[in-house]
Amino acid sequence: MNLIEDWKNRKSSARKQIRKTLSRLEREKGKKLDMLADQVHEEVFSELDCLDCANCCTSIPPMLNKTDIARVARTLGMGTAAFQEQYLRMDEDGDMVMNTSPCPFLQEDHACLIYEDRPKACRQYPHTNEMEFSQRMNLHKVNANHCPAVFHIIERINQALL
Ligand code: SF4
Ligand code: SF4
Repeated sequence: MNLIEDWKNRKSSARKQIRKTLSRLEREKGKKLDMLADQVHEEVFSELDCLDCANCCTSIPPMLNKTDIARVARTLGMGTAAFQEQYLRMDEDGDMVMNTSPCPFLQEDHACLIYEDRPKACRQYPHTNEMEFSQRMNLHKVNANHCPAVFHIIERINQALL
């Protein structure tokens, strides 16, 4: 069974176990954990194709900073004000985010229309590599339910540390 199907089948029943694992990993925080996470991240993403999933682009509106807004507006040949008006809204934290979910730039084949110039938040998602894993434990608890890669990365890190 592929990793995405496996996640769909098990994500609800394994939720408690994932949270327990993350609580345990919190005590392992540090460079060693982040190095292992980087390695497992590469392994899981080599076995899984985001184009078969697109769950993040479908369910989590990404945040755009000022640089993102200017870049994406330029790519679309729009002024920043017109781009903001058409595609963005301010969320409850005061951040600018895409105003629809699924994302307006997600295409039918799950490709991103602005892939080369996509927001930084999209590039960094799901925050499990680049020595960032241990700083995002609370986020991983939520993302394990949205992203099959996060789910499997957590399980494999746990296995590796047993
Ligand atoms: S901008 Fe592209 S990568 Fe980001 S959520 Fe939209 S479709 Fe996905
Ligand atoms: S939810 Fe995770 S696995 Fe799915 S497309 Fe997004 S990053 Fe890739």
